[in-house]
Amino acid sequence: MTVSLRTPFTATVLGLPRVGPNRELKRATESYWAGRVDAAALHAVARDLRAAQFAELQAAGLDSIPVGTFSYYDQVLDTAVMLGALPPRVADIADPLDRYFAAARGTDTVEPLEMTKWFDTNYHYLVPEIGPDTVFSLHPDKLLDELGEALTLGVPARPVVLGPVTFLKLAKATGAAALDRLGELVALYRELLRLLATAGAEWVQFDEPIVVTDLSDDEIALLRRAYAELSATPDRPAILVATYFGTAGAALPALADTDIDGIALDFTASTEIAAIPALAGKLLVAGVVDGRNVWRANLDRALATLTTLRGDAESIAVSSSCSLLHVPYTLAVETDLDEQLRSWLAFGAEKAAEVRLLATGLRDGQAAIADEMATARAASVSRHTDPRLDDPQVRARLARLGRDATRRAPAEQRRTIQAERLHLPALPTTTIGSYPQTSSIRLARAALRKGEIDRSEYVRRMRAEITDVVALQEKLGLDVLVHGEPERNDMVQYFAEQLDGFAATEAGWVQSYGTRCVRPPILYGDVARPAAMTVDWIAFAQSLTDKPVKGMLTGPVTILAWSFVRDDQPLAESARQVALAIRDETVDLQAAGIRIIQVDEPALRELLPLRAADQPAYLEWSVHAFRLATSGVSDATQIHTHLCYSEFGEVIDAIAGLDADVTSIEAARSHMEVLDDLNAAGFDLGVGPGVYDIHSPRVPSVDEIINALRAALKAIPAHRLWVNPDCGLKTRGPDEVEASLQNLVAAARAVR
Ligand code: GLN
Ligand code: ZN
Repeated sequence: MTVSLRTPFTATVLGLPRVGPNRELKRATESYWAGRVDAAALHAVARDLRAAQFAELQAAGLDSIPVGTFSYYDQVLDTAVMLGALPPRVADIADPLDRYFAAARGTDTVEPLEMTKWFDTNYHYLVPEIGPDTVFSLHPDKLLDELGEALTLGVPARPVVLGPVTFLKLAKATGAAALDRLGELVALYRELLRLLATAGAEWVQFDEPIVVTDLSDDEIALLRRAYAELSATPDRPAILVATYFGTAGAALPALADTDIDGIALDFTASTEIAAIPALAGKLLVAGVVDGRNVWRANLDRALATLTTLRGDAESIAVSSSCSLLHVPYTLAVETDLDEQLRSWLAFGAEKAAEVRLLATGLRDGQAAIADEMATARAASVSRHTDPRLDDPQVRARLARLGRDATRRAPAEQRRTIQAERLHLPALPTTTIGSYPQTSSIRLARAALRKGEIDRSEYVRRMRAEITDVVALQEKLGLDVLVHGEPERNDMVQYFAEQLDGFAATEAGWVQSYGTRCVRPPILYGDVARPAAMTVDWIAFAQSLTDKPVKGMLTGPVTILAWSFVRDDQPLAESARQVALAIRDETVDLQAAGIRIIQVDEPALRELLPLRAADQPAYLEWSVHAFRLATSGVSDATQIHTHLCYSEFGEVIDAIAGLDADVTSIEAARSHMEVLDDLNAAGFDLGVGPGVYDIHSPRVPSVDEIINALRAALKAIPAHRLWVNPDCGLKTRGPDEVEASLQNLVAAARAVR
């Protein structure tokens, strides 16, 4: 090791949220898109948000503060811009901001970049496209500007950049393998290091979360070489390589073997402190405060971890485990949470304070933070003794049900029974659940919230919507109808609001992508269902028609995936509790005369663990939870599920394991290719591969749908094939929905 330890810091977080505590950036950006404000106004909002954030973190006592994690849309897109790697189709757009937003969202003539999930979080990034014609070049203006701005404010700024290995691995490469371009990027990153040093940066953070996925030996060797070269840059700032969302595995000794100056590790994802190699001459940035869940830290445990780590590390800093992008800004604005629950939580601001406290405790001893530790202990006692965390009835029922309660009669037998009961034509037509969320629906919801109308008036208006949607489907001649989901603002929140064990926040906004923010419910206790959640709506819809109306529920895995979850019991256990509530709902729906029930699991794939070794256990419990939720009904009740994608990859065997009588998927865009994969995996249940793409406003022609059906029939026999759009219709306009479904019904009839 040739580099001696640079001025270390002691307390930091790995990155910051940016939409603003009141979603100011969202509003400003959307105003800019609508042409209501100009770029200068948007930039001013952004600058004020950053300045306020820096001031807060400095006041909280962090001695190194990340800069450059601000983004107008997405940090991966920002990195693509910095590296001159935007696709050629946006190159003609002269204005840089408009070019950026065109790459993010598309225009009338330009397709946007693809969007996909950021590791196993609910944040979505834009997938960079790298082709043989991509010529990388450095455009560091945004980062340098934000650095300059922070330094002017006296902020101990640490520029954060997505590292070259992760950037390339996340990109979609055509031509050669993406990592073949690593040498070119390293050259640019070296140039960047020099510029940042000149601009006054003492430390630079390169994010390499890709190391928590399974990398090959060759890839680890490339990572090692890249950081050996970067750290050989003359006159550079100190380099921190940040890893998060899991254990760094074999990448850790490789990185430790280079002359980088610090490594950030996620100690909330792993307790294997013993596996940390000696980091001679390096700063260990210990992520002991969970950056992606909302629980108050266990200060005793964190301090013990830090103390053990200090034994090995040359120097140690306390940090969040990952960027605070994934949690809400602050608890301070939440006034509706009960005192107990509130005392168990820590959002962004509270996490920064915990980091500072732990750094103080580590430096000055426990006594220096005795009061705060006592408060944290009291909160922990209050949490773990709260009766809401232990509902003996729920636990006894689950114990009684055991693992056998997930079996129905064999699929073939169910098919016969259901066919006799449902009398559906060949190639039955249906939709995925939601119909357009019209302005009258949104107005009614807002009016109820503001107290302008009462519950009965709200119900009356929703029933009117349902009546319209059922009439429309009757008119169009669809075979299996839905109620249209007008009463649901969100497919998870709707259920969380009605289940015991979940709490909602008032302003707990978290960025999902671009300007889209979500308010994930907090699952804090044992889950119970005080009353039926959907039966009135579905039964009302069924009362309007003789055709079967599909009951519509969200599955246990998806409810967990889009919530903040308990950390005091395995996720599999929480999944069983949610599954039990959904199971009770299916039984009630059946009792109310509902013959078909769909349980949506669009998040089944996204919760898949990042490392292959952890995947089988996950697939086992997630499939179990789905089956627990759907096996309480009789064999005559037909179970559907909807999965919001068609690239199944590692989850393909699990799809068959769900044992749903009918599975609808998004195969429209992939031209039905996935059906062969499903066959190869031994799938022999009903399938609705999605005969047109609802993500585009285009109305598909009858011929187009006929072609899609014929393509599907090459892989799936007619008695198993369903005809449906590839996803819910809530984002579409009523006119295009009607026209599209008319063509869908006509195409099904023609092919029959
Ligand atoms: N039933 C839901 C709907 O139609 C499914 C949504 C989804 O696929 N994410 O809106
Ligand atoms: Zn979908």
